[in-house]
Amino acid sequence: MNASNQRRQFLKVAGAALAMIPVVAFTNQAFAATNAGMRAALKYQDKPLAEKSCANCMQFAPGASATAPGACKIMPGDTEISPTGYCTAWVKKP
Ligand code: SF4
Repeated sequence: MNASNQRRQFLKVAGAALAMIPVVAFTNQAFAATNAGMRAALKYQDKPLAEKSCANCMQFAPGASATAPGACKIMPGDTEISPTGYCTAWVKKP
């Protein structure tokens, strides 16, 4: 293999290797964040309304533990939803 062929071969391999690197999408989910607009629109509060709380709402995505903040499927980018919170979009978890 001459130098030119070797370079071509290297470029081919390097190109294939680059193509295999997965695209990592960093979203707001990785950082603590709140969605103020949605919170206001849905009258989110940090305390439950009687027996209704995020922990027993079907939209809730729990955090690392039962008491840690989680996410809500209808509040994009918000990672600070309290399990003991509540909003007007509450729907009982089946
Ligand atoms: S919809 Fe409202 S009550 Fe249900 S998890 Fe989301 S913020 Fe909590």
